[in-house]
Amino acid sequence: MQIEVAIIGAGAAGIAAARRLQDRGRKVLLVEAMDRVGGRAHTITVEGLALDLGCGWLHSAERNPLARFAEAENAAIDRSHAAWRNQLRNLGFSAEQQRAAWKTYDSFDQSLRDNPPPDDIAGKAIARDHPWRPYLDMISGALNGAELDFVSAKDLLAYDDSASETNWRLPAGYGTLIGGAARALPLSLATKVLAIDHQGARVGIETSKGRITADAVIVAVPTDILARGDIAFTPAVDDHLHAASCLPLGRVDKLFLAMEDADAVPPETHLLGNPHSALTGSYYLRPFGRPLIECFFGGIAARAMEEAGDVGRIAFAIEEISALLGSDFAKRLQPVAGSWWHKEATIGGAYSHALPGHADKRAILAAPADERLHFAGEACSAHDYSTAHGAWQSGLDAADRIEPRLY
Ligand SMILES: Cc1cc2nc3c(=O)[nH]c(=O)nc-3n(C[C@H](O)[C@H](O)[C@H](O)COP(=O)(O)OP(=O)(O)OC[C@H]3O[C@@H](n4cnc5c(N)ncnc54)[C@H](O)[C@@H]3O)c2cc1C
Repeated sequence: MQIEVAIIGAGAAGIAAARRLQDRGRKVLLVEAMDRVGGRAHTITVEGLALDLGCGWLHSAERNPLARFAEAENAAIDRSHAAWRNQLRNLGFSAEQQRAAWKTYDSFDQSLRDNPPPDDIAGKAIARDHPWRPYLDMISGALNGAELDFVSAKDLLAYDDSASETNWRLPAGYGTLIGGAARALPLSLATKVLAIDHQGARVGIETSKGRITADAVIVAVPTDILARGDIAFTPAVDDHLHAASCLPLGRVDKLFLAMEDADAVPPETHLLGNPHSALTGSYYLRPFGRPLIECFFGGIAARAMEEAGDVGRIAFAIEEISALLGSDFAKRLQPVAGSWWHKEATIGGAYSHALPGHADKRAILAAPADERLHFAGEACSAHDYSTAHGAWQSGLDAADRIEPRLY
């Protein structure tokens, strides 16, 4: 088969691009380094329960193209309200403190708009010694995988301005939906792309399994992979690689703990470990009513957990939960699964944030390098970066841009 478009990376972006081109009658090949599709959309099944190690929420669901796809696929969708903002029985975080913390977040957000901080450093919009600064850094850890000092204020607002409060979930897993979308696509798994030569009549792609040629290529790999030079480009694409290095992946990881006595806490509730520290976990109790706790660590907390390792992370989570729900409850928790996204060789982290002063790099990364070399992936999205639907839309956009240029 003569390939018209090779798509590198079978995450949400690559799958969306390949589907769009195949729908238009183009001959495509999806080339993926891992032995599975989905990338950061990854559902595993433990004791019959589908657990999302990566994306789980269909954010901004009313305008999310993957929500429309899920509906078209007749996937079961949970449209109930997310419990993130609640603190079960106000444990360790009084109602008054919660109001003060959110009021501080709202003033911070307003200040980013009214008085853009010097050097575009989001962290400069709130004093370092403000009592709720750790809380805001915790939120930034969840949203960006990094604390506010490492995040562009402009980039943060671009996301904030377009995101809604409507968040849905898929009981069978977001990874299941996205991975399933690749089922009819020509695919080469366990095939790592090493080099792309886009100077000749056809694009030459060197892979761990040999050479592929195509009329055009869409590169849909994470920014850290581009920035560290895993793929050699001839001619060089320095502007794109530099843009990728200014959009690094932050750190976010999950840990799932099984509960012996599910009825000990109400379903669909939430606890923040310690509202006075950025180095804390967020604990979603009994998602979908299951006998589980989904522990979520972002930014500095995710980095600390990496240092602590498997055993240390479990101990940390159990200690925080124990402080809120008691040791009798916590000692009956058992780890069942967890992610270490930074350690995934062909991913390298959780999701992208723009470094201060570099929000414009998303448009640079999204622009075609030339007629036959285009980029896609969550980091290319100006407003929906860091999300699966942003990645998906970036793949559709790259396909739409490349298709008219093919013979
Ligand atoms: C813990 C966590 C929670 C998240 N929660 C949510 C959420 O609730 N909602 C949401 O919308 N988003 C969430 N996200 C983000 C979302 O998962 C990602 O933004 C999205 O899946 C990224 O898709 P992508 O196609 O851009 O990249 P990826 O999914 O990373 O796909 C890129 C692919 O390229 C492959 N690749 C890399 N190098 C090569 C190479 N040299 N050759 C061939 N293949 C290569 C990789 O193996 C990978 O499969 C979360 C992410 C994490 C980590």
